[in-house]
Amino acid sequence: MTRAAYTRETLAQRVVFGDGAVAQLGAEVERLGGRRVLLVATPGCAPLVAAAADGLGRLLADRFEQAAMHTPVAVTASAQRVAIARRADTVVSVGGGSAVGLGKALALRERLLHVAVPTTYAGSEATPVLGETRDGRKTTRRDPALVPRTVVYDPLLTHGLPAGLSGTSGLNAIAHAVEALYAAEGDPLTDVQARAGIAAMAEGLRGIFSQGDIAAARRAALAGAWHCGSVLATAPMGLHHQLCHVLGGSFDLPHSETHAVLLPHVAAFNAPAAPAALQAVAETLGAPPDHRAAASALLALAAAVDAPASLRQLGFAGTPEQVQQVVAQVLERPYPNPRTPDADGLRTLLRAATEGEEPR
Ligand code: NAD
Repeated sequence: MTRAAYTRETLAQRVVFGDGAVAQLGAEVERLGGRRVLLVATPGCAPLVAAAADGLGRLLADRFEQAAMHTPVAVTASAQRVAIARRADTVVSVGGGSAVGLGKALALRERLLHVAVPTTYAGSEATPVLGETRDGRKTTRRDPALVPRTVVYDPLLTHGLPAGLSGTSGLNAIAHAVEALYAAEGDPLTDVQARAGIAAMAEGLRGIFSQGDIAAARRAALAGAWHCGSVLATAPMGLHHQLCHVLGGSFDLPHSETHAVLLPHVAAFNAPAAPAALQAVAETLGAPPDHRAAASALLALAAAVDAPASLRQLGFAGTPEQVQQVVAQVLERPYPNPRTPDADGLRTLLRAATEGEEPR
């Protein structure tokens, strides 16, 4: 796969990776000039919060453990009050995309330094993007100031991520890489990094589910998440991400599970229009180097990690009215995609994904 022309803007970010790296958190904050840290997380992540608090030591000013999916602005306002009251100059987010989203929102509003400690594979820590919800409506903004200054990846913190969530979160990451490979605005670096991300994540997920060397598997998966998040930062996402946004926003379907179900279907839909990209996906997953093999290779990986197989399992009934609502929203303003979506094609895709049928 070669690219004829491209423009690339590289984002500035320091990355620290390694088992036990969370112990360096305090040193990383001080390196940026931070002195008073507000630690943010989602509820129920006590071991992660404790590890980050230990790493911060005397720099910890307070903690806020109410981060929520899709960064509701009311939650951000509550955290903002704590940050102001405690005169925080730094936010450290520990957890998945929900915690990192709150860290970004706070950093932007209060001009705080932001150090992210990601513990899922969602990839938000690598991007200049923030999606926020107000009264049930999600708006997304893109701003280089949203990129966390430092990311501390500690694979040991991901050992407790439940296997099922690891699988769907990993497929969520792979979806970033698949869409980057066929993005018209990709570049040679995103191509290399997307393939590295898919390979590392597939290796990591297979290792997590085979009960072999768990520490090595967790390291591979988190490194894969970093690569996949990095391509999400620079290459615009296509139909797959649009369908996930529409289904998540309108029907409240769970984030990573929706990605896991839809990915093979969108790969099959796009394969004829992006053969080189889908061939790369197939090859990277160890399937024959043929664009038509990508969807089944992704489906096999999803089955190997016990990912849900249908949107119906996630609570989407797929009534004609619901399908029409999704189709209308996608066609109103389609994301850039190698194959221009049409109503019939989208209905077929959604029917197969709803019922868990073979991708077509
Ligand atoms: P999440 O952050 O909500 O985490 C899912 C669950 O896993 C939570 O209950 C969390 O407490 C738990 N968890 C996290 N790490 C754990 C660990 N190591 N051990 C045990 N439990 C753990 O979900 P997510 O899928 O990571 O992120 C989804 C959110 O991120 C969405 O709001 C999505 O829109 C956003 N996102 C944004 C971007 C971006 O670039 N802006 C990219 C990807 C995702």
